Formats: sequence, structure tokens, C-alpha cells
Amino acid sequence: MFKLRGHHLFCLLGYRGMGYSQEYVQNMTHLHQTLRNNPKTFIQLVKGPDQLCEKFPNSGTYHCQDDNIYERDAVILKKMGLEIGQILMWEEIESRIRKFVVPSDIQMVCETCSWRSYGICEEGIQELHEGKGLREVK
Ligand code: SF4
Repeated sequence: MFKLRGHHLFCLLGYRGMGYSQEYVQNMTHLHQTLRNNPKTFIQLVKGPDQLCEKFPNSGTYHCQDDNIYERDAVILKKMGLEIGQILMWEEIESRIRKFVVPSDIQMVCETCSWRSYGICEEGIQELHEGKGLREVK
């Protein structure tokens, strides 16, 4: 089981192998591949820093405890009808995203994120709506 905070549920959809450091990318790729290969993997929703934040490099500006990031987590969970502490399979998360989220939500929910302008997170949500899952990261 993996522990994830709200906004990382969206970040995984847009993940294309980019990240804050080599260690961060290795960790995220491992998580991403596990969920892609086994969508029945359990996820526990947590408040604040999770298993991805753990590998945030010391060299970068640490934003994982910023108020606006907690707020982003809360908005995303609420949108999907989920709560902190809940445990559910990744495929259930995908199905809730299909039901409750549209690509343009990224523009509003993730307004301050530096990755937003790449358009990959919106693309990831769009692909879920098209019946696809997580994209293969090479
Ligand atoms: S825009 Fe940023 S916070 Fe939002 S899903 Fe993408 S990477 Fe995550």
C-alpha cells in the first residue's frame, strides 16, 4: 500500500518521467509503474507530506508543507468525494477522476504549480476519459 496526499493523485496522471531530482524521479517512476501494472494497488490518502514528498531534494525550495499545497490537496479530495485516511484501490481513484474531474480543472486547482504549463496533467485526465490508464513512462 502506498500513502498519497490529494494532489499527487492528479500528478501521477501527468507524470512523464520528469521530477525534482534523480532520486525523486526513481521513486515516482516506481510508484507510477506499480499502479500502472496493478491498478488494484491500495492507496491510503494522507494529510501532508507523503511517500513522494519524502524524496523531495534538499537542494530545492521545499513546498510540501505550504498552506496552499494543503489547500490543493483538500480541494482535490473534496471534488472526488474522498477523505483523508480512506484506503482505496488505484482503479477506484481513476474511476472517480472520470466521474468528477475534467481536464480544465487543472487550470484552477493547480494554478500555482510550475508543471501546469506543460499541459501534461490535463492530457492525463483527458486520457482517463478516453478509457486509457496511466501512460507508460520510458
Ligand atoms: S499541475 Fe502540478 S500539482 Fe497539478 S497535477 Fe500537474 S504536477 Fe500535479
